Amino acid sequence: MRIGVDLGGTKTEAVALGPAGEELARLRVPTPDDGYDSVVRGIADLVAAIEAQAGAQAPAIGPSIGPGIGPGIGPGIGIGIPGSLSPATGRVRNANSTVLIGHALDRDLAAALGRPVRVENDANCFALAEAMAGAGQGAETVFGVILGTGVGGGIVTAGRVLAGRNLIAGEWGHNRLPALSAGEIPGPACYCGRTGCIEAWCSGPALSADHARATGETLDPPAIAARAEAGDPIAQETLERHLGRLARALAGVVNLIDPDLIVLGGGLSNLDHLYHRLPEAMRRHVFSDVFETPVLKNRLGDSAGVIGAAWLWPDEPRTEGGR
Ligand SMILES: [Zn+2]
Repeated sequence: MRIGVDLGGTKTEAVALGPAGEELARLRVPTPDDGYDSVVRGIADLVAAIEAQAGAQAPAIGPSIGPGIGPGIGPGIGIGIPGSLSPATGRVRNANSTVLIGHALDRDLAAALGRPVRVENDANCFALAEAMAGAGQGAETVFGVILGTGVGGGIVTAGRVLAGRNLIAGEWGHNRLPALSAGEIPGPACYCGRTGCIEAWCSGPALSADHARATGETLDPPAIAARAEAGDPIAQETLERHLGRLARALAGVVNLIDPDLIVLGGGLSNLDHLYHRLPEAMRRHVFSDVFETPVLKNRLGDSAGVIGAAWLWPDEPRTEGGR
């Protein structure tokens, strides 16, 4: 059995998957809001509950046996978080769930659960889930993109997340948008301190801001899409600018890692024109005479985070025995 936990700012979800990836049980609880220790305890309780619900032979969840837990004491647990572990400190960084920042979440959870724990950021969990159980099934290399309030990315190859030397692989949202036109310089300010980041051009709020700059009217992306659909040329121009920018950003990914497919998630993945139009818009920015990379919509929706977390232990499908 594989256990995955998706730790969000307001809700924490857990899933238990069987050996072939079939869903055995799923639970969702509010994320405790009274401090880090409560979050750790809450995840430990949730793991115990979902194992009970899935009918697992629950391994001993007892006193801490410390980090670097040995083999033979049950399956590892995967945790997806809105942030990442710093390779310098082993502690959480870049998390918008600020209660986590500065804590060694994997070690603390391993101690609380008596089992090894892997922590990954939510974009990597998204990419892994879609590669293993969603739109990217069967593909060797998948680039997963979250286009939501931010822009994140994850690379999965041969069923594993490519984490990278600095644990930042795939996070191209804070690269500058390439191939700028004169009107795009210097570009919108980004919260990271840079200007013209891909995120500052291509996220949902960035799409709204671009429309507002052109029209003075603030609309959310679904409203802009609805107007474009109804024939509003101004809204269509906004979507066209966004499409062209996203195409340039993704063409850069193709030139670097040339994935077998690209899968989109997050709120803007509901913009259906992206799937019809992106490949053609990307083509002229890709340095290749052949360009046939599919751009697909996610299949797992909001479940991708928790399912990807469960697949963080790809080579350990059994509930007993060592690694
Ligand atoms: Zn940025």
